[in-house]
Amino acid sequence: MKRRKEIPLLSLLKRWDRKYFDGKLPTFEVVFAKPSQKNAHAETTWYPDGRIEIRLEPYLAAQGRLMAIVLLHEVIHVSLPKNAKHGLKFAAARRRLIRRGAYDSLL
Ligand SMILES: [Zn+2]
Repeated sequence: MKRRKEIPLLSLLKRWDRKYFDGKLPTFEVVFAKPSQKNAHAETTWYPDGRIEIRLEPYLAAQGRLMAIVLLHEVIHVSLPKNAKHGLKFAAARRRLIRRGAYDSLL
């Protein structure tokens, strides 16, 4: 059973969308639940019905900055086509976020 936890992520996600993704992020859900992939701390799933879900390991809920770093990685995935994985588009998007200062308060 999925463990869901209400935390004030919404304002953070809205700010990231506005500042780093030009307000173009698709709608997605964030849940704290064990990723299906072994040893993964997080994963993003595109469901056949169009829903997008970011799943974060529950321990991350208490790890503010670390959680934000992991979540931002997954949000990059959400901003790209599913098949982008960790290829050139992902690397370019990550570089753009670094240039825009997305990691300045995280690293
Ligand atoms: Zn990834």
